[in-house]
Amino acid sequence: MKNRILVTGGAGFLGSHLCDRLVQEGHDVICLDNFFTGNKGNISHLIGNPNFELLRHDITMPIYLEVDQIFNLACPASPVHYQYNPIKTIKTSVMGAINALGLAKRVRATILQASTSEVYGDPEMHPQKEEYWGHVNPIGIRSCYDEGKRAAECIMMDYHRQNGVKIKIVRIFNTYGPRMAEEDGRVVSNFIVQALRGEDITIYGDGSQTRSFCYVDDLVDGIIRMMATSDEIIGPVNLGNPGEFTILQLAESVLRLTDSKSKIIYKPLPQDDPTQRQPDIKLAKELLNWGPGINLEDGLLKTIHYFKNLKLRP
Ligand code: NAD
Ligand code: UDP
Ligand code: UDP
Repeated sequence: MKNRILVTGGAGFLGSHLCDRLVQEGHDVICLDNFFTGNKGNISHLIGNPNFELLRHDITMPIYLEVDQIFNLACPASPVHYQYNPIKTIKTSVMGAINALGLAKRVRATILQASTSEVYGDPEMHPQKEEYWGHVNPIGIRSCYDEGKRAAECIMMDYHRQNGVKIKIVRIFNTYGPRMAEEDGRVVSNFIVQALRGEDITIYGDGSQTRSFCYVDDLVDGIIRMMATSDEIIGPVNLGNPGEFTILQLAESVLRLTDSKSKIIYKPLPQDDPTQRQPDIKLAKELLNWGPGINLEDGLLKTIHYFKNLKLRP
């Protein structure tokens, strides 16, 4: 069935890949973005496609549209960018969720919230299951993002319980791939860009902290499967690749795969940087019959290929 679909944050890294998939599937897609961290280049190939519409709008402001489904992705996701204007970040998560939910309520659309593994904070349960309530600092420099996303989950659940809005929550773990911005600041794009430019690879802390990296195509597939579930499946559901690596291992892989002569240097670990992170994806397997198919090495090669073809800033 052809749906009218709103993707907030649709010109960003994940949002643009999601728009691609939805347009390919024949849906009518409205991409809403204020271009804070997104960019037109990510969706320029879709402009002119009769199934695609681009709307410059800030989701902290109300928006009146007629749609069947909403994917609420608007929010900067890189620590560098979400800490640049933390008040705006939490407004985007909280007021953005309220506006998207108000819209979903009015037009009876199903809404999917892009939540995050950050709701688990610096986790004491490993790997992280959906039942875990997390270990989040409410007053630190990451709180604007973590608590904003936790509040958005709360608002989603309350619109569901109080107003019967059809909701879906996915908790996304570190995802990487083509169209991450060159200056995004997250670890995979930073390391690849540094390696290709021959600059030092900046490891924060001693590099023993871990992350589990999911390739973008796998993640988008999981999001689409979640939206396709029946109304009683609301989540939250973890989506991520359980393959866990230290940041030092990631740096070494990037150096090997780019054949770069860059040196590794060590910089101070930012405040509240989680020490470990790995999704338990049993629930996604059960409910969505989903699991990642692309391992870190293959995903890194595709991402390196993308950045090699970009004209990197010298
Ligand atoms: P991104 O920064 O590339 O994309 C975010 C998009 O939202 C950008 O296009 C940005 O311009 C837009 N945006 C920001 N504030 C807005 C506002 N007020 N109004 C309208 N648009 C706004 O990041 P991403 O990695 O593509 O993340 C997309 C979503 O997925 C985010 O909600 C993020 O929290 C979530 N997520 C991503 C990851 C990941 O590893 N990539 C992990 C967990 C959660
Ligand atoms: N809203 C919106 N688009 C809509 C419907 C609502 O942006 O199509 C906004 C509305 O302006 C409000 C928010 O969503 O600020 C929450 O809407 P709701 O109906 O829950 O709240 P109320 O309008 O009663 O405050
Ligand atoms: N990191 C790093 N060097 C960089 C960027 C990030 O060592 O140039 C580290 C960062 O401290 C964290 C991990 O890599 O431990 C993942 O960081 P990212 O910003 O990608 O995401 P998040 O911390 O939100 O998972």
